[in-house]
Amino acid sequence: MKNYDLTKRILVTGGAGFIGSHLCERLLEQGHEIICLDNFYTGRRANIAHLISNPLFEVLRHDICFPLYVEVDEIYNLACPASPVHYQFDPVQTTKTSVHGAINMLGLAKRVKAKILQASTSEVYGDPAVHPQDESYWGNVNPIGLRSCYDEGKRCAETLFFDYHRQNNVKIKVARIFNTYGPRMHPNDGRVISNFTMQALKSEDITIYGDGTQTRSFCYVDDLVDGLIRLMQSPDDFTGPVNLGNPSEVSILELAEKIIELTNSKSQIVFAFLPEDDQRRRQPLLEMAKIQLDWKPSTELNEGLIRTIDYFRKIVKPYEQAVVV
Ligand code: NAD
Ligand code: UDP
Ligand code: UDP
Repeated sequence: MKNYDLTKRILVTGGAGFIGSHLCERLLEQGHEIICLDNFYTGRRANIAHLISNPLFEVLRHDICFPLYVEVDEIYNLACPASPVHYQFDPVQTTKTSVHGAINMLGLAKRVKAKILQASTSEVYGDPAVHPQDESYWGNVNPIGLRSCYDEGKRCAETLFFDYHRQNNVKIKVARIFNTYGPRMHPNDGRVISNFTMQALKSEDITIYGDGTQTRSFCYVDDLVDGLIRLMQSPDDFTGPVNLGNPSEVSILELAEKIIELTNSKSQIVFAFLPEDDQRRRQPLLEMAKIQLDWKPSTELNEGLIRTIDYFRKIVKPYEQAVVV
């Protein structure tokens, strides 16, 4: 039975996006009332269509760069394009979303005394000179490159969170999220797992940027959502920043080979131009999450990839039919 004392009204910004839609779903399962805010820049109605009939779920089309007046107990601030292709399309808007958006959501949290969680990123470490990365590392970020609108925007948002905490006693939580994947990633968002999977399923060439020796560590979305909720529920004196991700590191070449194998694809690997400031290595140290949140990821890459590939197969099918017709 639902426990009304424990249920809350929760605002999820970016709620129609990849991670946001999974988060809304999980919070609804826990009996909370959800306001899912999105401007639908990279989010899609299809991601939340199955939630619409739930009377505890409300969708609000809004851009967080503008003020918002609602009454809520908790805010998960996820609104921000996350893939390089999308955040570089309109870089000024990306910085505005991170900075003006954070100010508005922090102003709201301050007024209604809500707890607020920021979806920060491993990108705050830039191209890390320290490997693997723990939360004490200050990063190695190019302030004027093509990735800067995202990296510096997220760094400034962290600054704002800590200043609202020190200056106005706002209860904050900052999660530094490492590469996350799973069903509902946008098929054309340019990120590596969605690109490789779509290419493999359509028997197109798999495009490795550079020589494929760069590494990433991929976290399955269900594990990440569990970490975000645990962070929100942690004691008020724990603010983070805390790394959330999966520590098993793979090279991009290994990832391409794995996806070809799991999809049983005939695709060939081709090597293409490496984008500016593409990071060489990335792997989280998760000691803090383990100690403070009793959290660690449990989904192996193969298992998560199989579930993700199943999702993309359903998207590719209509495409194939369209081509055949
Ligand atoms: P996504 O692009 O699927 O989701 C972002 C959502 O925010 C979309 O629904 C988009 O329409 C919405 N949005 C963008 N600008 C907005 C604005 N100004 N106002 C209102 N809504 C806006 O990306 P995602 O992968 O789900 O990422 C969610 C959050 O997690 C982002 O803040 C991202 O920076 C962070 N993050 C993601 C990853 C990852 O690997 N997926 C890694 C690190 C951090
Ligand atoms: N804000 C908002 N909703 C609220 C309260 C504030 O969107 O419920 C916005 C407000 O427009 C302001 C920003 O949050 O620009 C920062 O608010 P804060 O109170 O920190 O600063 P001030 O109002 O003094 O600029
Ligand atoms: N990448 C690639 N081919 C693609 C898309 C990405 O080789 O089709 C590489 C990219 O250059 C980077 C890694 O895969 O080294 C991860 O890229 P993604 O955009 O997913 O995330 P990020 O670079 O932000 O970690």
